[in-house]
Amino acid sequence: MQSQISAPDSVPSDGLETRANSQEISSFKQLDLSPVMLRALKRLGYEKPSPIQAQVIPPALDGHDIIGQARTGTGKTAAFSIPILELLDPLRECRNPQALILVPTRELAEQVFQEIERLAHGCKTACTVLAGGKHMRRQMRQLQEGVQIVVGTPGRVYDHIQRRTFKTHDLWCVVLDEADRMLDIGFRPAIEKILRACPKDRQTMLLSATLAPEIQRLTKRYQVDPVHINCSSRQVSVETIEQRYFSVKKEEKFTTLVGLLTREQPRQAIIFCRTKRGTDRLHRALQTELAKIDSLAKTKLACIHGDMNQRDRDRVFGDLRSGKVGILVATDVVGRGIDVSTVSHIVNYDIPLDCDDYVHRVGRTGRMGREGIAFTFVTADEGDQLTSIELNINRLLIRDSLGSEVSEEAAATAETDVQEEPAAPKKKRLFPIKRKGNDRLARVGARRS
Ligand code: AMP
Repeated sequence: MQSQISAPDSVPSDGLETRANSQEISSFKQLDLSPVMLRALKRLGYEKPSPIQAQVIPPALDGHDIIGQARTGTGKTAAFSIPILELLDPLRECRNPQALILVPTRELAEQVFQEIERLAHGCKTACTVLAGGKHMRRQMRQLQEGVQIVVGTPGRVYDHIQRRTFKTHDLWCVVLDEADRMLDIGFRPAIEKILRACPKDRQTMLLSATLAPEIQRLTKRYQVDPVHINCSSRQVSVETIEQRYFSVKKEEKFTTLVGLLTREQPRQAIIFCRTKRGTDRLHRALQTELAKIDSLAKTKLACIHGDMNQRDRDRVFGDLRSGKVGILVATDVVGRGIDVSTVSHIVNYDIPLDCDDYVHRVGRTGRMGREGIAFTFVTADEGDQLTSIELNINRLLIRDSLGSEVSEEAAATAETDVQEEPAAPKKKRLFPIKRKGNDRLARVGARRS
């Protein structure tokens, strides 16, 4: 059984609208938070809870399992991190991890870690990242020294559990952040194994942009009477993100892109491609072409995809965040976790195969209410995909076109579009687990003051 806390369908929503009582919450003080947390929030400049925060924090503090339908950019990290920080036992009382936050990518793990560090300001908190591509030994040492919160990717976390360097018996909270994406990229077996290795009376919070059937199966098997909070992604891009499409021939995509960038002069843009090879090729072609355009010649370009090593990926993210990189060419997997509020333009150079990917890509701009614009390139045989996106977001994209300003030279630089499709992981049923009674509500009395 699920408790439903979702916005009625008739209420127009931009993904930030919520049910009436959460709209009444206009201050963090109304959420019964500790003085130290209120000070940290003030220091961060968070004036009032975002809708997902207003809805998640109270039931999470009461120990309930949560299903939160929300995308990144809505403040969902703080929504699950604040209650965890509020309920943590001090390190001197428990040296084993108490909360585990599973995320799909290393980048997102770093971002969540940083947000927790900021929210934990003023209260000594031991948090660590367990993600692949980083030193195993260092992670082992940190775990040995004592950690309260672990943020990690499923593969590496399970690796530590198997080695017994990560002791799960004191875990009272597990968060599955971007659960839909974790399943998409094949982490289901690792997630299952991890959940089975965790105490059964834990609190489980699941955050997902969508409630696809496999997510629902996951919640049925691993959550107990979850409270369902719907800051749905269905209308996520409506309010502040302008969304347009270009009807293009395959061989015109590159020229159109160059023309678009020249016209738009973006403050910061992310261009999404479907494949790693396509990302590399487009990056190289753009480097050559933009160098010839006065107004864009100084713009620093970068590309990011799953084949790059962690150091390079970290560097690119750092450069994007600091504003050094003006145009980033990216694939979905790494693009999803990007939390950079200065991105002004999104270009779907390859139309996403999946509506959720569209929402996530477009959601890289217009973050926390800022303005943004997204362009999607659609070829003649991709009309169905456009329609399905429009149905999903409940909005028609505006058709855009360029005048004759597109340089013919650009066409010469264009390389063949790569249309290979990534292997989609197969979706299987999850094994059920038997749940015992839930005694975590006892924690509520022990909240820090
Ligand atoms: P997230 O959805 O967790 O990726 O958060 C998106 C961005 O919003 C992050 O940069 C947060 O620091 C910021 N943020 C989270 N909560 C608030 C809030 N209540 N007020 C203002 N900014 C926030």
